[in-house]
Amino acid sequence: MEFSSNVSRLSPSATIAVSTLARTLRAEGRDIVNLSAGEPDFPTPEWIADAAVQAIRDGETRYTPAPGIPELRAAVAEDAARDAVPGWAPEASQVVVTSGAKQALFNAIFALFGPGDEVLVATPYWTSYPQMVGLAGADAVPVQGPAERDFRLDAGTLEAARTRRTRGLILCSPSNPTGSVYDAGEIEAVTRWAKEHGIVVISDEIYRHISFVTEPGTRAPGLMGVDPVHVGPHVVVDGVSKAYAMTGWRIGWAIASGEVAGKLSALQSHTTSNAATPSQHAALAALRERSRADAAIREMVVAFRRRRDLVVEGFRTRLPHLELVEPQGAFYLFVRIDSEFGGEVTGSQAWCSAVLEETGVAMVPGAAFGDDRWARLSYATSDDRLEEAVRRLAEGRTRTGPATPGGAR
Ligand code: PMP
Ligand code: GLU
Repeated sequence: MEFSSNVSRLSPSATIAVSTLARTLRAEGRDIVNLSAGEPDFPTPEWIADAAVQAIRDGETRYTPAPGIPELRAAVAEDAARDAVPGWAPEASQVVVTSGAKQALFNAIFALFGPGDEVLVATPYWTSYPQMVGLAGADAVPVQGPAERDFRLDAGTLEAARTRRTRGLILCSPSNPTGSVYDAGEIEAVTRWAKEHGIVVISDEIYRHISFVTEPGTRAPGLMGVDPVHVGPHVVVDGVSKAYAMTGWRIGWAIASGEVAGKLSALQSHTTSNAATPSQHAALAALRERSRADAAIREMVVAFRRRRDLVVEGFRTRLPHLELVEPQGAFYLFVRIDSEFGGEVTGSQAWCSAVLEETGVAMVPGAAFGDDRWARLSYATSDDRLEEAVRRLAEGRTRTGPATPGGAR
């Protein structure tokens, strides 16, 4: 079958592919520790779910305006202003509610970039960014900051990658897949550079609540914490999926500067029409009931931090030959595995397949994130399963390379 040039460069999401495979193996009766897709293992807080049920009972089951119900757009704007610099209060009209943060990113990329454009993508990157850039017909250009800064970008690195065609930059902090977190000064340096060169910044802030560098329940620095004087055209992307344990509800949003919001909304009006109506009401409850939501988020972040400590400690003591990025946020551990390549295992894909086959631990190959020397695991699962995963990796792994300390063969 011949497909159109629209999708000629498209491949399926590796994160979703590995987690689907892990589920299939589990259904076949294998004991799988699924550390692939990043999804909080907590249930959506009950009072948020109740708000959706109530909305359905109240007849909120019809189309909404394309950019979302006005109350939710206003609540998102208000929420964003909570830790924006004083005076930076986005208007509700700048908010477009989408079917998950993924659609907000797609809408922004599709509306802003096209053939001939280059979009810099902070690398290691979340697997969908370059695919979305490709769908828009533009060219994704991976840019990697220095390893000793956990790959965070600075203006110098960005400037070296800039060409006459550079139109955009996609940034993700806290980062999926590394867990690295930009501090406020680092974000400002990047936005200043982008503004100077008329480059649009898409700031994916979906993991901002899950930060270990700030108090649990407070957010990591974001783009709107920078003095607007230093910020040019931008789109901030966030949503309820991660912080509120609501991945299946499919609610995200874009907060866009200038006329961009109108264009994102027009695009959406021809594709999904609007995000699911009951889900919008659930998200509204999540944002409006601030103190309850903060308490729920705090509890989850405390658990994520404990698990981060558990898995980092587990790797350091039982698999000390594997370099890792110590995560400061989100719920991923990025582990360097190329010291184990050898024989048929020539890259991260083969390594992850071998590990899954031999230990039942499902991880995502680094190739999906732009660096084939690494692999990613999600630690958004129970302490028991994490301990089990570390044990299996340390004891049960078939080593393709030289035998290494910390593990019996
Ligand atoms: N951005 C990043 C960095 C993510 O990890 C995810 C996870 N799916 C998304 C966006 C998309 O979030 P959502 O589920 O709200 O579409
Ligand atoms: N964002 C998660 C991940 O990176 C969920 C899967 C996806 O949406 O790609 O694993």
